[in-house]
Amino acid sequence: MNSAWSIEFSRIVLVLVSTLVFGLVSGYWLLSVAVNGGLYVGWNAYQLRRFERWIRSGAHTASAPDASGVWELIVQHIYRTQKANKDRKKRLAQLASHYHAIMSVLPDATVVLNQNLEVEWVNKISQSMLGIDANRDVGQKFSNIVRVTDITRLIESAPDAEEIEVVSPADINKMLVIKKIHYGEGKILVTARDISQRIALQKLRKAFIANASHELRTPLTVISGYLEMLVDDEELPPNLNNIVQNTYLQAQRMDNILGDLLVLSKLEEKGYSETSGDILDVPQLIKRLVNDFQKTKARSTHRIEFDVTEGLKVKVVESEFYSLCQNLISNAIKYSPPGSSIRIAWVLSDTAGACLKVTDNGVGIKPEHLSRLTERFYRVDQNTTRKVNGTGLGLSIVKHIIENYGGYLNIESEIDKGSTFTTCFPSFRVSYHQDASDKV
Ligand code: ATP
Ligand code: MG
Repeated sequence: MNSAWSIEFSRIVLVLVSTLVFGLVSGYWLLSVAVNGGLYVGWNAYQLRRFERWIRSGAHTASAPDASGVWELIVQHIYRTQKANKDRKKRLAQLASHYHAIMSVLPDATVVLNQNLEVEWVNKISQSMLGIDANRDVGQKFSNIVRVTDITRLIESAPDAEEIEVVSPADINKMLVIKKIHYGEGKILVTARDISQRIALQKLRKAFIANASHELRTPLTVISGYLEMLVDDEELPPNLNNIVQNTYLQAQRMDNILGDLLVLSKLEEKGYSETSGDILDVPQLIKRLVNDFQKTKARSTHRIEFDVTEGLKVKVVESEFYSLCQNLISNAIKYSPPGSSIRIAWVLSDTAGACLKVTDNGVGIKPEHLSRLTERFYRVDQNTTRKVNGTGLGLSIVKHIIENYGGYLNIESEIDKGSTFTTCFPSFRVSYHQDASDKV
């Protein structure tokens, strides 16, 4: 038994002995019990009152009631619990200020919003990137401070995985990539990263490629011209014939590469546009394309089947749509054996607006290459395809064209069975009049 309880028991024993002695001496037992019991209960009631006042006033250690026995024990317990609480609070406060210090010096703008989309916390750099001030704007609605439609749409309705690239609302020279993450109970963490440097480098790279391609084309045209004259020259010694022929072919190949690079540069510079293009009668264009292919050897070596929905039109730049179709169809011809069939479909889609599908029964592509096919100069290193001439820029051009129209390219392929390349245009670009629904 600890000393506090010993003191308390001693008190009780003292009260009992006093009651006994007083009762024996005076013979008034009832009075003895009442007086001694009253004293004990009264003393405890007095301690209880002091104790209650102490707790009510905040239970500060300095003003703890000076009590002994079990009351002292209770005061000690409360004191220890309070100290442990204080230490924990201190540790939590230190941790919180540590995290705040880290978050404040992060190079990314960081903003915490509550469920009403009001600013709850913001770091310093958010001022120069998003125009949100840590002192002025806490408690304000985010959309009242940052008035950029794309950013407010992202915060209010877009899924967490989405991120957008926008010009900084605080500085038009900065490009930002903005993301948001939901956490806790309805809280949102918004981050903005400055990508101006990366964009500037990309621009520099694109400008370099465009300029180099442009500058190289002029001397190459001259070289090709002379080589063409030499190829046709009947007086050329026979031992040089092969060399000149080969050099001419390589010069033409270089010209094709430069041409494709210039097309890519133009497509990149143009970028996404909701309004560009005119309504194009795709079935008509496909008929023209078929005629062009009929003039080439391919028509006689491959069976070309069509499933083209008449009256299904799309808003695009004609030359770009032509180039897209031509790239896909020429790939289908190049990478499938003579005699096999190629199917060209132009159809309405359940999920997207309208899709052009080119299906072949050719060599197919291994799954590990699929995601890389649209990279510049990427060619599958496969015995069957290596022999075929190409620059590896065709699908890159296709991807740029379709993405500039807000659409997408999908590739499905099975090795030795064939491939389907699908390009889909968003429904807002598509118009369809069913009355002209004959098939080509
Ligand atoms: P070019 O720039 O002349 O079109 P390319 O055809 O080699 O050259 P892409 O059209 O970009 O370049 O195609 C990239 C690669 O994807 C090809 O080299 C080929 O390996 C593979 N590929 C493309 N289409 C098909 C297809 N229909 N079947 C099998 N492989 C294909
Ligand atoms: Mg190609």
